[in-house]
Amino acid sequence: MGKPQKIREKKVPMPEQPPKERIKNFNEVALGYTAEMAVEEAKRCLQCKPKEGQKICVDGCPVGVNIPEFIKHIREGDFEGAIRIIKEKNNLPAICGRVCPYERQCEMYCTLGKRFEPVGIGRLERFVADWELARGVKIPEKAPPNGKKVAVVGSGPAGLTAAADLAKLGYEVTIFEALHKPGGVLIYGIPEFRLPKRIVEAEVEYVKKLGVKIECDVVVGKTVTIEDLLKEYDAIFIGTGAGLPNWLGIPGENLNGVYSANEFLTRVNLMKAYLFPEYDTPIRIGERVATIGGGNVAMDCARTALRLGAKESYIVYRRTEKEMPARAEEIERAKEEGVIFKLLTQPIRFIGDEKGWVKQMECVQMKLSEPDETGRRRPVPIPGSGFLMDVDTVVVAIGQSPNPLIPKTTPNLKTGRKGEILVDEKQRTSIEKIFAGGDITTGNATVIAAMGAGKRAAQAIHEYLSGKS
Ligand code: FAD
Ligand code: SF4
Repeated sequence: MGKPQKIREKKVPMPEQPPKERIKNFNEVALGYTAEMAVEEAKRCLQCKPKEGQKICVDGCPVGVNIPEFIKHIREGDFEGAIRIIKEKNNLPAICGRVCPYERQCEMYCTLGKRFEPVGIGRLERFVADWELARGVKIPEKAPPNGKKVAVVGSGPAGLTAAADLAKLGYEVTIFEALHKPGGVLIYGIPEFRLPKRIVEAEVEYVKKLGVKIECDVVVGKTVTIEDLLKEYDAIFIGTGAGLPNWLGIPGENLNGVYSANEFLTRVNLMKAYLFPEYDTPIRIGERVATIGGGNVAMDCARTALRLGAKESYIVYRRTEKEMPARAEEIERAKEEGVIFKLLTQPIRFIGDEKGWVKQMECVQMKLSEPDETGRRRPVPIPGSGFLMDVDTVVVAIGQSPNPLIPKTTPNLKTGRKGEILVDEKQRTSIEKIFAGGDITTGNATVIAAMGAGKRAAQAIHEYLSGKS
């Protein structure tokens, strides 16, 4: 018998572009594992078996990928086998392998993580997904056509997942997308340096190859209504996301040079300001850019501003770093790149020049209160702590709300307090034949949560249309 191998305490490091280099370009920051690195990382996995009352990696995956099994295939050098296992549950693995918050999902439950760093599950998923993309994606067997038609509204991760699963089950599926390019936030929101467009395009292509039709430039609620679609389709899935920006509601927010994160990132990503001078999409940057907020969206904006030439890029957040909702990895990368964190700071007014462009921001210093009954420490202003910050551009990234167009134009579609479409555990809405999922039902959440909802909806639509429920 061979000697038992000592387990590496830390993940095999991910090769990355060095910070000084990467802030001059929009190329991907994390470069991905080589086959050798992937096999070495896979060897750290303990191949745990689920036990009563004890959670493991799989329990943290919202789409239920058989993680130990796919890692086992990587250990054996069988990358083809590994990707087949992932694709049983996840139609968009190259995307998830890049943007999923693993540290709060699968990796949080990893047994190895109790003593050492957890297994790099996301890195391994990305490796095999990229391995497959480089060789040409195989299309799985599909059920024969069943003659039923489903319309999917929105082509973000929720819509793409629902559409792919339904196509595999034999449905004729058409996605209607308002923008000129499919992918939702994956295309217009998350920047190229975190999620290259070619990866999203390749995974959209996979969904199309399953037989899904995608019609762009169709704004449901304007071009056609849900009621029109109901005449032609046997069921509808609404996955229109949370694209309505939240604002601070303070004086000066309508000055020139104050953007919502949505507009800022759309100009850069979808309208290709990141490809200047090839594309000359107008975007103001100047020398000092302040991004308000502490989530992934805020990190993306602050890091984008640096790449577009800002000399100083600030994150202005009213709590401390501990409360920041952004992924730890992204906060770290932002710091490495030189983003300056102004914590416990709240803007209260934007001040403009004589031409109506923002030039300063009045802020107050905050402190955290004692924990309230929910254990949350609220930020409260410190009296007399006001100060001014010079700014050329401000990006407000304090969250988004569900898109209101479909709820407004669809009578009897019930919504909640924040405008989200109300659904039950099977993603059924208040109207028969209509299902919904993703950010439109939860508010701004995660890619994998939207995909989980798309999967549940596809299953529920199948049960409904095949007379099982
Ligand atoms: P979306 O991705 O918003 O897609 C909805 C689609 O519906 C859009 O294409 C939209 O154009 C279309 N649409 C809207 N209205 C209509 C209409 N009336 N008719 C037709 N089409 C319509 N999550 C993570 O897990 N990790 C991250 O690192 C991460 N980073 C993020 C960074 C940014 C900048 C942003 C904005 C979000 C980020 N998120 C991240 C959140 C994640 O992207 C979303 O939770 C996810 O995309 C939601 O998916 P969805 O399918 O519900 O909606
Ligand atoms: Fe491997 Fe961690 Fe999952 Fe155990 S919990 S099977 S160590 S990835």
